[in-house]
Amino acid sequence: MTRIAILGSGFAALTAVRELRRQKVEAEITVVSPREELHYLPSSIWIPAGLRKAEALRLPLAAFFARHQVKHVKASVTGMQAAEKVIETDAGPITADQILIATGGRFIRKLPGVENAIIPCEGILAAEQIAVRLKAMVGGTIAIGMATNPNEPGAMRGGPMFEYLFILDTLLRREGRRDKFRLVFFSPSSRPGQRLGEKAVDGILKEMAKRGVETHLGHKMVRIEPAKVVTEGGEIAADLILFQPGMTGPAWLANADLPLSPGGMVLADGLCRVADRPGIWVAGDAGSYPGPDWMPKQAHQADLQAKAAAANIAATLKGEAPKAAFEAELVCIMDSLDRGMLVFRRGKINIVLSALKPLHWLKRMFENHYLRAYR
Ligand SMILES: Cc1cc2nc3c(=O)[nH]c(=O)nc-3n(C[C@H](O)[C@H](O)[C@H](O)COP(=O)(O)OP(=O)(O)OC[C@H]3O[C@@H](n4cnc5c(N)ncnc54)[C@H](O)[C@@H]3O)c2cc1C
Repeated sequence: MTRIAILGSGFAALTAVRELRRQKVEAEITVVSPREELHYLPSSIWIPAGLRKAEALRLPLAAFFARHQVKHVKASVTGMQAAEKVIETDAGPITADQILIATGGRFIRKLPGVENAIIPCEGILAAEQIAVRLKAMVGGTIAIGMATNPNEPGAMRGGPMFEYLFILDTLLRREGRRDKFRLVFFSPSSRPGQRLGEKAVDGILKEMAKRGVETHLGHKMVRIEPAKVVTEGGEIAADLILFQPGMTGPAWLANADLPLSPGGMVLADGLCRVADRPGIWVAGDAGSYPGPDWMPKQAHQADLQAKAAAANIAATLKGEAPKAAFEAELVCIMDSLDRGMLVFRRGKINIVLSALKPLHWLKRMFENHYLRAYR
């Protein structure tokens, strides 16, 4: 029987499983990942405000895998001999006929002193740390910022940092202690969030001003000290620092014969094929794809890529030429705990809806709808 190996059990990996079975692919599917769980990170922004508990965002996958006749191997990928289709893992090698890489991205930890900041998108634990630190503070400065990968400027995730900024502001106001805190937003870009479009950046900067958030923009990062962010344009003394560095590919790529993009992600074409490696595919944050410079590192984009990759694997197994190309699409509801700002991009379309209450509820409804497939 044909063997398909899917590396990772995040958004792209699980969407690919569903799409393969929907396309009636009967091959043996093995998912390799360190935990048999989906972590629904988009809702981790609500942990500091108590709107979500960490346990609710860790979804066990045993029933989902059983339903889709998937074998789960609890292991971390450590390398790959792509030419031979051998996946190296910490539980031994695995071979497959078709391999989908969906192990996500990683944040660059090169900035001196980066360990003095919490990197919110590193996972549920980071959100819990923010909650604990915030609760212990009686006042002070919270500095929130982001940077990109200088070798691949698109490899970044800014949306959640704006969400943390606006959510913490709303939360502190609700708690009646906003006046005891300074909120400062920093970024080497003078127009942060540009991939969302110019109108969205204007809206975000206006919202910061309205909420009394100070900005420190357009200065290259130098280092982070335990109580200070140092940039080429000055310093920000801070009691809590949230910083999102630029993204790169997963660490195991250093031990694989795969073509990489300048930013260190797996180089793919518009059909999610890894360049010059027949039978190897990539979807989600682990890959670098052709397309507009605003193409997001988002779960929604990962899902679109996974659907295309799965359709192309299905076609290949039938002896047909793969032809499913994914759409570049950005859909983001930027939440502020009681409202949401919507940004949508596809082709030349760029829609921005300013902060509205129903959009907060839409984000919550979408979470419920999305997770139904895994519950
Ligand atoms: C706070 C926050 C808010 C966000 N908000 C949104 C939002 O509103 N909308 C949106 O679309 N996106 C949002 N995102 C982005 C979204 O979560 C990511 O883009 C998405 O998770 C990428 O999917 P992926 O499948 O490529 O990788 P991931 O979901 O990161 O999955 C990677 C998988 O690979 C596994 N893995 C890692 N290393 C290995 C290894 N060596 N071997 C085997 N398995 C491995 C992991 O355990 C995981 O199962 C948000 C992210 C965060 C953190």
